Amino acid sequence: MTEKSYPELFAQVEENYKVITDNIAEAAIRSGRRYEDITFLAATKTVDVEVINHAISLGLDHIGENRVQELLDKYDNYNLEKCDLQFIGQLQKNKIKYIIDKVSQIQSADSMSQISEISKLAVKHDKVMNILIEVNIGREENKGGVNPDALMEFIDEAREYKGIHINGLMAIPPICEGKELSKYFCDMKQYYVDIKSKNIDNISMSVLSMGMSSDYAQAIECGANMVRIGSSLFGKRIYK
Ligand SMILES: *Cc1c(COP(=O)(O)O)cnc(C)c1O
Repeated sequence: MTEKSYPELFAQVEENYKVITDNIAEAAIRSGRRYEDITFLAATKTVDVEVINHAISLGLDHIGENRVQELLDKYDNYNLEKCDLQFIGQLQKNKIKYIIDKVSQIQSADSMSQISEISKLAVKHDKVMNILIEVNIGREENKGGVNPDALMEFIDEAREYKGIHINGLMAIPPICEGKELSKYFCDMKQYYVDIKSKNIDNISMSVLSMGMSSDYAQAIECGANMVRIGSSLFGKRIYK
C-alpha cells in the first residue's frame, strides 16, 4: 500500500470529519441530547502531526495520544491553541513525569500506584490532574481497567490523593456487537450514574468516555458523552 499525499489525506479527513460530526449529532438527538453535549476526541496514534493539525483547523478541539514517546515527539508541533491534549493509552508509572505538564486529562488510570505517582507529580507541578478511571467492563483477563466489582472501593481510595480530580469513567468493551455491546455500554452508564448520584467529594463524574470508530453512535445512544475516534477520521493506521 502506498501512502497518500498530504493533500489527499487532508481531503479525506475533511470528508470524514463531516460524516462523523453528523453521525454524532444524530446519535445525540436519538438519545435526547445535542451535538454540543458530546465531546469528539480524535485518537491520533500513528497520525502525522500535519494531518492532526489539519483536523484541528476544521474545528477538532480534543485529541488523545496513546504512547508517551509519540506524544513527546509530536508535542512541539501540535497546534494546541484551540485544542486540548489528553492521554488515552495505558500509562507506565515511570513515564507519567514526561506528560504531567502536557496533558489536561489522563483517561486510563487503573492502579493505585499510578494514581499515587500522578498525585505526587501533580502536586510538584502545582496542578490538579483530571483523571478518568478505566473500567474493565468485560472483566477480561490481560486487559487494563479496574474490575467493576472493585470500582467503588478503588474510587474511594483514589479520591483521597491530592492533585487529582476524578472526572469520570472510561471503557473499552470486549470485541462484540449488537445487544451484547449495548449491554456493556449500558452497564458503564449505570456505574457512572450511580457514582454521580452519590455526590462524593473530589469526584465530578462529568465524562463517560466510550465508543470508537466502529461503535461511537451506539455508545452515544447508551449514554457516552465522549467518544474517541481514530481510523474513521484519519483512515487506516499505518504503523511505521
Ligand atoms: C486507538 C484508540 C481509539 C480509537 O480507535 P479507532 O477504532 O481507530 O477509532 C480509541 N481509544 C483508545 C484508547 C485507542 O487507543
